[in-house]
Amino acid sequence: MANVTFHFNHKLTGADFDKNIAWFEQRGHAPKTDNTLNPKQPSPNKREQRRAPEIEVSFDLLIGADGAHSAARYHMMKFARLNYQQEYIDTLWCEFQISPSPTGDFKISPNHLHIWPGGKFMFIAIPSRDKSFTCTLFAPSICFADLSKAPEEDLAPFFEKNFPGVSPDLISPQDLQDQFTSNPHLPLISIKCTPYHYNSSVVILGDAAHAMVPFYGQGMNAGLEDVRVLFDFLDQHGVYDPTVSNDPAARALARARALEEYTMQRTPDASSINDLALRNYTEMRASVTSPVYRLRKWVEESVNKYLPSLGWSTQYSRVSFENERYSEVEKAVERQGRILMGVLGLSLAGLVGVGGFWAWRWNHARPTGRVLTGWLLWAAKRTEEFAR
Ligand SMILES: Cc1cc2nc3c(=O)[nH]c(=O)nc-3n(C[C@H](O)[C@H](O)[C@H](O)COP(=O)(O)OP(=O)(O)OC[C@H]3O[C@@H](n4cnc5c(N)ncnc54)[C@H](O)[C@@H]3O)c2cc1C
Repeated sequence: MANVTFHFNHKLTGADFDKNIAWFEQRGHAPKTDNTLNPKQPSPNKREQRRAPEIEVSFDLLIGADGAHSAARYHMMKFARLNYQQEYIDTLWCEFQISPSPTGDFKISPNHLHIWPGGKFMFIAIPSRDKSFTCTLFAPSICFADLSKAPEEDLAPFFEKNFPGVSPDLISPQDLQDQFTSNPHLPLISIKCTPYHYNSSVVILGDAAHAMVPFYGQGMNAGLEDVRVLFDFLDQHGVYDPTVSNDPAARALARARALEEYTMQRTPDASSINDLALRNYTEMRASVTSPVYRLRKWVEESVNKYLPSLGWSTQYSRVSFENERYSEVEKAVERQGRILMGVLGLSLAGLVGVGGFWAWRWNHARPTGRVLTGWLLWAAKRTEEFAR
């Protein structure tokens, strides 16, 4: 876009959101040798000598898209009454690569997300355009600590036991060890905060507003959705429409209203996707192996495929392939769960009822039938209660 100018290597170091001024450190420029940063001090100390020069910038609206450790959010906290919550989960992650096959093709199907569920840990592989796979090992920090003691001895057996088919088939044991030792072992943070704005001067989006664990693959998607929602509200309030108003004060008022609505809409949605992402870790590493989980998934996918008019859809497809608000997805999926359990319960009650009838008839012939009838009646009652 012709009206966009990039300034790389400029680090936000401070902001006054009442005066609409921000300060940026110009990294990559010659360090300061004078002491203008602290004029009271007669000679520059070593730290100041190392610091890059700073520039002052004035703005109408500062959009803080500066990630989980956002400086925009940090400085906004001094102006807005911002509630903030962060959690490091006890899981670290490390990246691995599966290179293309000797014939230059994918080594495994590129049309799937590959998951090796290990209960307490998991390994996943996602295809890349160059026919390699980007893989991630997620595991508790204690597990990383144990494997780091002697990776040359422990890593290959750990993979063989927990993620069969990965090594040596897809990654050689030596590669596995090299990648484990050279790639960083990184933490996972989950952040919730609100509001996302202060007056008409600043708004945060993406990870700055709602960093989440990566188990729903929605971090970047949610950030892009923030942009859509934010600009919908700015457009609705005519903030950038010159025919609406050229008066800066009126514009600032319209912008403040748009940012307020953005916060109101996005706070519950971001909170929902943060929670769903946390829950999905259990689903990916453990629940996928449970028959009950698979049954529900199969039923939901079948209803979605064969009876689309019912508007039934799995949580995953609602989150990943539709524009439904995350908070509404949570409610809809809860409702679907209740209906599903009700139908399942009633079907069981029906089966028990038919069984009971036959047992009642049999009852006249054998005394043991009486016991069976009693049991069936009890089971029918419990099933009915469960379905309710
Ligand atoms: C293992 C893993 C897997 C993931 N998988 C997925 C996935 O499959 N799908 C998905 O949608 N998301 C995924 N995510 C999440 C996704 O990576 C993030 O949600 C996304 O990158 C956030 O984008 P962002 O622009 O908000 O922040 P960031 O990508 O963190 O970008 C912030 C930018 O701000 C800059 N910055 C920081 N501080 C300052 C400062 N003081 N001044 C100026 N600039 C600054 C940084 O240099 C950086 O360029 C995954 C994350 C992880 C950790």
